Amino acid sequence: MSKNYNKKLRIFKLFSQNLEWVKEHPSIKFKPDFSNGYICPLCFEIFFEKDLDVKLKNHLTLEDMPPKSLGGKPIALTCKSCNNKSGHELDAHLLKTLLSIDAKSFLPNSKAETTFELNGNKVNGILEVNEKGTLKLDLQTNRSNPNQSSQFMKDMFPPRTIYNPLFYPDKMFDNAYQSPTFKMQFKENSNERRAEVALLRIAYLLAFAFLGNGFLINGGLYKVREQILNPDQEILPKVFWLKVPFPKECEGVNIITLPKELRSYLVVFNLKTTSQSRQFAIVLPGHSTPSTKVYDFIFNELCVGDGTTFCNATFEHIPHQNYLEKKELAFSGNWFWQEYTKDDYKPRYKPETKT
Ligand SMILES: [Zn+2]
Repeated sequence: MSKNYNKKLRIFKLFSQNLEWVKEHPSIKFKPDFSNGYICPLCFEIFFEKDLDVKLKNHLTLEDMPPKSLGGKPIALTCKSCNNKSGHELDAHLLKTLLSIDAKSFLPNSKAETTFELNGNKVNGILEVNEKGTLKLDLQTNRSNPNQSSQFMKDMFPPRTIYNPLFYPDKMFDNAYQSPTFKMQFKENSNERRAEVALLRIAYLLAFAFLGNGFLINGGLYKVREQILNPDQEILPKVFWLKVPFPKECEGVNIITLPKELRSYLVVFNLKTTSQSRQFAIVLPGHSTPSTKVYDFIFNELCVGDGTTFCNATFEHIPHQNYLEKKELAFSGNWFWQEYTKDDYKPRYKPETKT
């Protein structure tokens, strides 16, 4: 058995037990009923321990959240089919997008595919910034147009006319100073929308892994799943994030409590590239109103100006606990939601955000 098998089995058992407790709720019925199963959080199909076997066509796969390449660790399972539709490929676009932002900002330890152009001749290559911030241009003439690259190299490193420096001290490298037109263009090989949907997927799976199967009893999440599984369609409005820095203690799952129009789950997490760690705050619908209408509110009210008009909102952080491991905590998400959306709710915590 592989090392991954044991990891998968441990996660399977944790969620499977949690699911048994959730199923005991009188209003939850599965037809036909089953026990010791695992629900794929994306397609809602039911799987069993035998489905951990990688030889099966639609087996359960390990989900690193955030993706391993961005500093995550395995926390949940999804079925192979959902993973194929929306897993590695979305994450790859997210990684490429972040790496390209690092490179465009010339951050230390960044690297990006680039096209260099000199006097109209192009050469493909890689621009690398080392840990000290030194730029390195790697010109890859072997994967460039041969005529253009040969001219490019001649212009870039001209055969020098050696003047006698005693007579012409300024002329030594005359040819190299003929101010050629040098341009650099980063390869745009990532799809921004897919990178955004990857963020939504990370937030959804982080919240699921944190609160367990009880979190899924939430009609508003239907569209979130549909969006994740169909990344190229616009099922949710374009904006499902908040562009405000949150304090470190808010990392994890929060509930935005006021204004009522903004009531929702807020998942705050960090993604780490080799150059930088960035915080993301993604909104997921809550168990009651405004549900998915929260996205309209964000778009209409918060996406104005520089997008930092969050100052009047309040939220509560859901404390870290092993919600999956205890029967009495099986509906914690719903419990916190009820508690924080009561009519007489008084905010305890008002975030300090820049104005
Ligand atoms: Zn699935």
